[in-house]
Amino acid sequence: MSMPQLAACAEPPAITQPIRQRGQHEVFCGLTSIIWLHRKVQDAFFLVVGSRTCAHLLQSAAGVMIFSEPRFATAIMEERDLAGMADMHDELDNVVARLLERRPDIRMLVLVGSCPSEVIKFDLTRAATRLNAVHAPRHRVIAYSGSGIETTFTQGEDNFLAALIADKMAAPSGGTPARLVVVGCLADVVEDQFSRLFAELGLNGVVFLPGRDAIKGLVLGPDTRFILAQPYLGATAAALEARGSRRIDSIFPLGAEGTSAWLRAICTAFGVDMARFDAVVAQPRRRAAEAMAHYRPWLEARRVFFFPDSQMEPSLARFLSREMGSELLEVGSPYLHRDHVAGELALLPAGVPISEGQDVDLQIERCRDANPDLIVCGLGLANPFEAEGRVSKWSIEFSFTPIQGFEQAGDLAELFARPLMRNAMLTGGGDRREAAR
Ligand code: SF4
Repeated sequence: MSMPQLAACAEPPAITQPIRQRGQHEVFCGLTSIIWLHRKVQDAFFLVVGSRTCAHLLQSAAGVMIFSEPRFATAIMEERDLAGMADMHDELDNVVARLLERRPDIRMLVLVGSCPSEVIKFDLTRAATRLNAVHAPRHRVIAYSGSGIETTFTQGEDNFLAALIADKMAAPSGGTPARLVVVGCLADVVEDQFSRLFAELGLNGVVFLPGRDAIKGLVLGPDTRFILAQPYLGATAAALEARGSRRIDSIFPLGAEGTSAWLRAICTAFGVDMARFDAVVAQPRRRAAEAMAHYRPWLEARRVFFFPDSQMEPSLARFLSREMGSELLEVGSPYLHRDHVAGELALLPAGVPISEGQDVDLQIERCRDANPDLIVCGLGLANPFEAEGRVSKWSIEFSFTPIQGFEQAGDLAELFARPLMRNAMLTGGGDRREAAR
């Protein structure tokens, strides 16, 4: 299927005014991002300063293989009054000292704040400064908030990256400034594929943030450009812009169209010859189209409703609509960063309802009235919807599954198709692929 070409910085047409509602919302907190961050950043250890609830969330969501050393844990701060705050600092210092003694391989300790009131009162940034005075440079200590009061699960990654940039800038390592910083947690396999494509395009000086190595320095120069690989990184982008780096505007690298546009935007920014760009992307783009075609019969004309969870919803909806032929009933996002997602919103079909924020009861009613074929939502809503006989997809899977780039376009399509395939098997609905042949 041929796709219209998207100019890297095209002026987007006006979008439908989003539905804005404030009320109860159902979404995982920022601690959840530790699931994919700890896998990526291999010299870091995430220490949640929280309650037993936080420990349960991490334990059940991330799990630990019993034969591996985990790279996350929870320091449980039991209820205490303000008079106990000094003890809390001592307690945290002791926990950290014991941890670093037992795990000398940890190069960066990341303190993650949570939302119990006694933790909110506790200044983790100050604690990180104090701990750095004791443990740096052998172990660096940074802090960010993953509290459910302030963050949804992808905002946890945003806060982590903003804290990481502040730390890297505070401890400059010298060396040649990066030409391009690719910002957003990407699975190693995706990072490697993009690295190969950048090499074929003749682009050097590319740094991935986060990389596998947290402690590695980041040097920004006056000509350093950055591009977001994830749409939910507003604080991180602001931190880089505050240090003089300029963002390359693009839609996000999901599907063949998104990946082509994203790479083209980079090539345009660095003056790469477009004939070279076309030659480099032709084959992987063809492979992506073939892989996606396999799942199109399952998704074409299927009516999809997105609840707001990850901020990836406009990009996922664009992929489903333009590359899979699905119909969009509502595209919800916890927050719409107007600049960062303007290109995505401009590519959605005219008149598609877009919602920002949530009043979950009202949204559930809209969803039931629309009666979609597939509901993309959080775990807390998915199970009740399934009990009503509806088909759902957990939105968090799009955060921890490698879905960016040409080689993952088929996997992305499969993530949407799988619940529909399972439902067809359970209900004897037949194989749409067979029907399509
Ligand atoms: S919502 Fe708050 S208390 Fe619950 S797991 Fe997340 S940070 Fe911990």
